[in-house]
Amino acid sequence: MNVCKKCNKVYDEKSQFCEQCGETLVQNTADVFQCDKCRKLFIDSEFCPNDGSPLKIYQRNLTSNQIEIRNVEHYTVQIATEPMLLNMDDFKNCVPPYEGTDSNDFMTYLNENTLYDIESFIDQNEANLDDSTRDILWNLEDHPDEENVIYDSRNKQGNMWHELGRTNPDYTKNGGFETLESNQYD
Ligand SMILES: [Zn+2]
Ligand SMILES: [Zn+2]
Repeated sequence: MNVCKKCNKVYDEKSQFCEQCGETLVQNTADVFQCDKCRKLFIDSEFCPNDGSPLKIYQRNLTSNQIEIRNVEHYTVQIATEPMLLNMDDFKNCVPPYEGTDSNDFMTYLNENTLYDIESFIDQNEANLDDSTRDILWNLEDHPDEENVIYDSRNKQGNMWHELGRTNPDYTKNGGFETLESNQYD
């Protein structure tokens, strides 16, 4: 990366002059920051000179005895709606008709005829479903509320670990961090 020492704007290796000030660029040896809003890179700034947005670390120039450390936590949260009452007999008059006898048959029926396309099923059975069953089917299109937590793995067992490495924007799936060492249990 090359940098303009006058306006602190960062360019790639091929660029020789600053587009803004015409200054000759020099090779960068400082930490690089990125604007969250316009994505432009700068050195030696806290805020973007273009739009005033705060800058985030993009790449640190580490000396051989420097390294970055971060905490990482992994957890599972399960959410659910309130239970809604269904009468399985209501589906015996539907198209196609439900002909099973237990919850297992009913799950198979719903999977094959209803749940993958609830709207079409309701359209097709407008006259066969009572209001309450139809409302429940519509509700099944929605995600549960985020507050309706039924399980949170953090209450049972914490799962946090530490990683050593360096900020590296190429590692997008790892939060822009190149992990060199980790004490995570498998
Ligand atoms: Zn410049
Ligand atoms: Zn900006």
